[in-house]
Amino acid sequence: MSRTKYIRRLDQVDQLTDGERLRLAKVVEKYKFRANDYYLGLIDWDDPEDPIRRIIIPDTGELIQWGDLDASDEDANYVAPGCQHKYPHTALLLCNEVCGAYCRFCFRKRLFMDENDEAVIDVSEGIEYIRRTPRITNVLLTGGDPLLMSTRRLDDILKRLRRIDHVGIIRIGTKMPAVNPFRIIDNPDLLEMLSRYSTRHKRVYIMTHFNVPQELTEAAVQACDMLRGAGVICANQTPLLRGINDDPCRLAELMRRLSFIGVPPYYFFQCRPTEGNKIYDLPLVDSYMAFVKAKKQVSGLAKRARYVMSDASGKIEMVGLTRHHIYMRYHRAKLETDEERFMIFHRDDDAYWLDDLVPVDRAPHPVSRFGHRPTHALGPE
Ligand code: SF4
Repeated sequence: MSRTKYIRRLDQVDQLTDGERLRLAKVVEKYKFRANDYYLGLIDWDDPEDPIRRIIIPDTGELIQWGDLDASDEDANYVAPGCQHKYPHTALLLCNEVCGAYCRFCFRKRLFMDENDEAVIDVSEGIEYIRRTPRITNVLLTGGDPLLMSTRRLDDILKRLRRIDHVGIIRIGTKMPAVNPFRIIDNPDLLEMLSRYSTRHKRVYIMTHFNVPQELTEAAVQACDMLRGAGVICANQTPLLRGINDDPCRLAELMRRLSFIGVPPYYFFQCRPTEGNKIYDLPLVDSYMAFVKAKKQVSGLAKRARYVMSDASGKIEMVGLTRHHIYMRYHRAKLETDEERFMIFHRDDDAYWLDDLVPVDRAPHPVSRFGHRPTHALGPE
């Protein structure tokens, strides 16, 4: 039996006042709430800005009209029910529509809405598509959180993927080590199953989702250690989030501690302009500056990660910033002609996404849509 108790209603969070619950009722009507006693137990309730509180407790700011539910147009990438194929070598299987806890800034919050059917229980058609497509070498199980599924169901999917010769890497995207490490610690059958499919020549990767150092509890560290003991490779990815992990010192601590425990940072993401995310998102320049300043405080293994934006057209890495320009490069591209393409834009400190930027071969916005802000220069230009 699980030692973690899941909750779905705000009246189950004792620390919230009646007034807070009343104010937040409209928010949870629109964007679902789900948490558990372990994760809520990490919150310092005396601090209204506690980062875990901001990650998991709804906020009336989510009702600000901004962004799209599917900000990167994932809908255009489906090739079979639950299966997205955007980049040549990688396919995604959305095999679960529930997570251990719903991060308020989730870019796939549409999955948790009743009318959405993007994630499917039966991924057979997707697996068949992968089998018929030899250039796919890398399959990401995602959702929702695949580790919230039963071990038996996960075993079935991994078994079928491992029968496909050209699939070398199976990745599992999960926040369970952060929100409920006991799913791993208390389930030797899960570890035994993963060790069967993470072989010497073809590893299983767990893509963890630690946002802040406070999530790296003793239990979380133990869970990562047990995954490694089962032969699984762990790496971490997180968006940069306003007031949660955008302080360079806090970000550096996250990078440093992840590298210490052998879960190296892999990607830092520009928070997608997803509906309801205005209060969590940061302009590109601010996020990138926090990333650069944090990198200066850590050693090599902690700073191999890239700062990227998952645009509909591909994964775009922000590689440089000067007084006048922003430099970017396609790290992964949907169109072959974009692969590795280098781009230079007029610097705009109020831009949140690619669409807000103007390339250097066009005149810049005469006045930014958002008004001017002071710039912090990184280079001599
Ligand atoms: S764990 Fe990932 S998919 Fe689940 S709510 Fe958080 S960000 Fe969204």
